Formats: sequence, C-alpha cells, structure tokens
Amino acid sequence: MTLRIGCIADDFTGGTDVAAAFRRAGLRTALVFGTPDATTALPADCDAAVVALKSRSTPADEAVAESLAAQSWLWAEGATQIYFKYCSTFDSTPYGNIGPVTDALMDAAGSGLTLHCPASPPNGRTVYQGHLFVHDQLLSDSPLRHHPLNPMTDSSLPRLLSAQTPHRVAVIDWPTVRRGVDAVREALLAHERAGVRHVVADALTDDDLTVLGAAALEMPVVAGAAGLAEGVGHAYPTSGPAVAEPWPDQGRAAVLAGSCSARTLEQIAQFYAAGLPSLHLDVLAAATGRDVTAEALTWFDKQDPGQPVLIYASASPEELAAVQAQLGVAEAAAQVEDLLGALASHLVERGVRRLLVAGGETSGAVTTALGIRAVLVGEEADPGVPWTYATTRSGDLALMLKSGNFGAPDLFTRALTESR
Ligand code: ADP
Repeated sequence: MTLRIGCIADDFTGGTDVAAAFRRAGLRTALVFGTPDATTALPADCDAAVVALKSRSTPADEAVAESLAAQSWLWAEGATQIYFKYCSTFDSTPYGNIGPVTDALMDAAGSGLTLHCPASPPNGRTVYQGHLFVHDQLLSDSPLRHHPLNPMTDSSLPRLLSAQTPHRVAVIDWPTVRRGVDAVREALLAHERAGVRHVVADALTDDDLTVLGAAALEMPVVAGAAGLAEGVGHAYPTSGPAVAEPWPDQGRAAVLAGSCSARTLEQIAQFYAAGLPSLHLDVLAAATGRDVTAEALTWFDKQDPGQPVLIYASASPEELAAVQAQLGVAEAAAQVEDLLGALASHLVERGVRRLLVAGGETSGAVTTALGIRAVLVGEEADPGVPWTYATTRSGDLALMLKSGNFGAPDLFTRALTESR
C-alpha cells in the first residue's frame, strides 16, 4: 500500500478542487464520490485519496458520522494522515460543521492538536492575525456576508472556531510562519503544552502554506482549504504523476451540460460559435413523455465522429424559470438529471471516451449513472478543473467534471480538441 494522505472534503466541488491541489503537489491522487464502502476500489498506487462528501450544510451529527466512516475507510486503505478539506471562506454555521467534524476526526485518531488554515492565495483568500481576507476585504465585509446558506459575518477564525468547539483555539502569526518550519513546530508544541487543541495559522502566500504543510507532517489530522492541502502534499516525496495517465487516444468526445450558470452558458455559446455540433434538450417535451433520449442519440449517430459534440439542458434564466414554473423546481431538476445520466451511459456505450460534464449536481447524476465510484485525477485544463480517469463497463474514460462557474469561456472546445 502506498496511500499516505486520506482527505475528506465537505462538498463535491471541493473534492475536485483539493484533489487537483494534491496532484499539483506531485501526488498520484484518487477522488472518491460519496461515502465509500468495502466495494469501492481505488486506482492502483495512489499517494492521496480524497473522499468527497456533501456534509457542509447537513446537521452536524450526520456530518460527523459520514466523516468518521470516510476516515475509517481511508485508514483501512493505508492513509497515515487525514486532511479535512473545507471551504476557503470557512462556510459554516455557529453549530458546525467544521468544529464538530475536526474534533471527531481528532478523537478517533487519538490526536490532541491540529492545524487549521483556510488560505488559498491564488483565489485571494489569505489569513492574517487569525482574520480571513477575501482579496482586499475582511470576510465579513465581502459578498460572502450575504451567502444564501452560510452568511459569514465574522472574519475572526479563532472566534468562528470557538463557537463550534469546546476546546481552546489559538493563532500562529505570520512572522512566526515566515521564520520557517522549525519556528512553526516550536509554536505548535508551546500551544499543545498550554492545552490548545486547534491552532489557526496565518498564511499570505503559497510558500507560507508549504512551510505549514511541512510543520504538520506528523499530525494525524490537519484541516483547511485546497491551499494548505497542496502545502501538505509538498511535504511528501513521490514519484506521482510522472507515472503515465491512461489518456484514451481513440474514441469520440462529448460535452453534457446541465449547469445554468453564467460561465457554462458562455462555454456553450463559444462551442456553438466554433461551428461544432450542439443539441439543446427539450426538458418540457421529455416531461410529457416524448423520448428525448432516443431523439438525441439519433442526432448523435449522424454527427462526424471526428468532432466533439455538445448536448445540453442548460437554459437561460428566463427559460429555466418557465420550465420550473410548469414542472416545479425539484421535478425539473430530476427530469434533467435522469435525462443526462441516461445519455451519459448511452454515449459511453457508443464509444465516447472523453466526456466533459458541466454542473455540480449534473456531475453527480452522470457518475451515478455510469457506476463510477472513484477516479484517478489528472492534469488541470483550467484551475480547479482536472481531467480524471475512470473505468466503466464499456471501457476506459477520460472524464472532466466541472462545477458550473468554473473554467475559461473556451474550455469545452479547448479541452476536447487539443491533442495530447
Ligand atoms: P451548477 O454547478 O452550475 O450549480 P448543477 O448541475 O449543480 O450546476 O445545477 C443545475 C441544476 O439545474 C440541475 O439540478 C439541473 O438538473 C437543473 N437544470 C438544468 N437545465 C434545466 C432546465 N432546462 N430546466 C430545469 N432545470 C434545469
């Protein structure tokens, strides 16, 4: 067994994000969708495995139970260090779930001290004097204060964490981090002796996160966003992605889009403008019983196999509102997800070997329909959007799962037409 780092991500998109970070640090990384069990198999020879849960906004006891199950599975696979990945804007409520999950993971590991840092400098998230900044604003002054699920109205990480844990919280300041790994280790030891259990570290740059990752190497549980994960990853020597990734040279290429986010709509427009074949699915017709799947497959079979195709349910805000008004929000979403899931299976059976899926929920529907539980993470086409590799009943597949707003406007055409 080579697995070293086992990571638990509190949402699906965060799972992809943190898996890409470990991959950037040179680790051969797997991404597992949902709570794994005895039948979940990891790709061979992984250094890191990320279990992507949906535990960010669920009741704390459920988040704890799922995270502990994931931790046990990761340990059984050989992981020696657990990384709990949460959002770089510390999305949570006064009841959790960051504090309760971290405490539970530490208790199970018999650990008395952990390091937290949600900084993600490339995305403008930095921590100074224990306060979280979003670009040049304190978190509490940023648009995140209006977040629909978890409005963040305080920027003090020790204060936010203290509301979620009965244990002591302290800060390691930036001058200490700047002095390097030994200085951070000394500070951690001093905090541990003083009875502190959660240490929040300042970090302004990726170099700071590399220092923190090295200082935390012996810690059974570490917590933060994708930035610190990359720092932790750099602390491990690996042969990593130098091992060839299973890129399929043969087969067709397709995009399935179910995201209605502005960026996905731009990517669809760009694909169309490039003269590539695209088909819009009629969701209302599908709801009235028309076999839209069969119609789409007939269309697909007529296209030039040498060109990528796009099939999308994505709709403008007006069209979306009209469909939702007729079908109801949940029924409309279920209809679209069933449609795109079924199409994914048929397309792979028909020889698609490079599949790009746009939309977080849509990605969940597609991986479930394809029976994919775990993938190997490959190179990023855009920040936070890696290719992944999966094995399906019909053969090997390169799969890109993209959250709605991710990727440059030309991502679809670039990712599917570039030769490698
Ligand atoms: P994002 O990552 O942009 O949030 P998701 O796939 O997570 O994208 O969410 C988009 C949601 O919109 C999905 O539940 C999908 O089923 C739904 N949807 C997509 N197209 C339509 C449509 N034409 N009518 C109604 N709902 C739609």
